[in-house]
Amino acid sequence: MKNVLIIGAGPSGIFTALELVRKGGNFNITIIEQGNLVEKRVCPKSKTKECVHCKPYCNITSGFSGAGAFSDGKLSLSHSVGGDFPNLVGEDVAQEFIDYTDTIYLEFGADTHVEGAEQTDAIKEIRKSASIAGLKLVDCPIRHLGTEKAHQLYFDIEQYLLNAGVKILANKNCSDIIIENEVCIGAVVNGEKMYADEIIIATGRKGADWLDEMCRLHGIGREPGVVDIGVRVEVRNEIMEKVNNALYESKLIGYPKPFCNKVRTFCQNPGGFVAQENYDNNLAVVNGHSYKDIKSENTNLAILCSHHFTCPFDDPILYAQKVGELTNMLGDNKILVQRLGDIKSGKRTWQSELNKTNIKPSLTDAVAGDITAAIPYRTMTCILNFIEQMNVVVPGFSSDETLLYAPEIKFYSNRVKMDKNLNTNVKNLHCLGDASGWTRGLMMASVMGVYMARKLLENN
Ligand SMILES: Cc1cc2nc3c(=O)[nH]c(=O)nc-3n(C[C@H](O)[C@H](O)[C@H](O)COP(=O)(O)OP(=O)(O)OC[C@H]3O[C@@H](n4cnc5c(N)ncnc54)[C@H](O)[C@@H]3O)c2cc1C
Repeated sequence: MKNVLIIGAGPSGIFTALELVRKGGNFNITIIEQGNLVEKRVCPKSKTKECVHCKPYCNITSGFSGAGAFSDGKLSLSHSVGGDFPNLVGEDVAQEFIDYTDTIYLEFGADTHVEGAEQTDAIKEIRKSASIAGLKLVDCPIRHLGTEKAHQLYFDIEQYLLNAGVKILANKNCSDIIIENEVCIGAVVNGEKMYADEIIIATGRKGADWLDEMCRLHGIGREPGVVDIGVRVEVRNEIMEKVNNALYESKLIGYPKPFCNKVRTFCQNPGGFVAQENYDNNLAVVNGHSYKDIKSENTNLAILCSHHFTCPFDDPILYAQKVGELTNMLGDNKILVQRLGDIKSGKRTWQSELNKTNIKPSLTDAVAGDITAAIPYRTMTCILNFIEQMNVVVPGFSSDETLLYAPEIKFYSNRVKMDKNLNTNVKNLHCLGDASGWTRGLMMASVMGVYMARKLLENN
């Protein structure tokens, strides 16, 4: 019987174990998780009203079911969304695994309703305008788990695994992996050595820096990933009405000339609010939220431009951080906002001018200024040209009063080099999910776990 050691109990780690069990594989499986079991993951904020910084690990981001456990759990059912894993195994294979993994979620009680699966005349019309504009409208049906349902669903999976004999060691931290003669033979967990035949690292975005460190220390092959730098655009609901009504979320992708970087829309919030978030290193970035009960008169969405660097500079995360810091500096550590018309006229926006327009900024403490003084030329040009393309799909999108907030930055992990069988250059070591840099979503991480299990089963 082969011993499998999985580090991290997010969807990628969980679904590896689940598929091994479901397929009746002859494996002795242990999962190491630094956070709590799912039933013990309680955030005190609901009582204390403010974050009490749980020690040693935050219950929101750590524990069985991983980083997205407290979200409303949107499962993206298209291979076009959720990371680059399809580039590794092929789009058709990825889609086949998404469809299969979706059936597992359904078996464990996921809602049978799927949003955005139907092709209405309104959607066809939007797709037609997108084609005319040179944009691709990505079909992405979404299955909503819902926060409470997600908890129950992952609890049921946890119990299923425990009943099948999988050892889930919660509140245990993996600090190192053990490599001898270029073969991974185990890991150091809470200071003790644990040995196994196959070691799977599935530590998520929060364990990505640790995995980076492991790669550096042990010579595990990796390559820089991409970073997305952009703006959050805010327009009045009337402008976006057609798209808001037809699609749960419009995902449009383009490669605007002259640079042809990938530019895409992301996280659309009809009637939503623009928000400021602060990263641990004090970087203030913009984001968007929508609430069930409180609605604004505006719709916001991100427009993100992907950047990839290779030689001689290969640190996209640092690059984006510097752009963010510069933008923060110009905005006195707050989010900068500028009217599109002012960008076109080559001038900054003044607060007094903001007060005169139809759009009331939903982020009330954003600082009026000049984002073009901080966002690099290439990024800004890509974004502005993309906005003009968007205007074909959504007339009025590029009007002078449209607001652009910055910086909107999405950091992803560096990518661990792996072959199609998910082998790293170190024998018996495999890296999955968001930590590996190949996924960035619940479904794709789960799919990578299922795929890993199949590879282990094939080779057993
Ligand atoms: C607030 C929030 C909302 C989200 N909402 C959605 C959504 O609606 N839809 C969607 O598709 N995606 C969403 N995501 C993204 C999604 O959660 C992740 O893409 C997905 O969880 C990645 O799965 P994973 O298995 O790679 O890692 P994770 O889910 O991050 O799990 C990794 C686990 O490893 C553990 N770990 C880390 N380091 C160690 C270590 N050294 N030793 C032991 N254990 C360790 C962590 O505690 C964690 O539990 C959301 C993310 C967040 C943060």
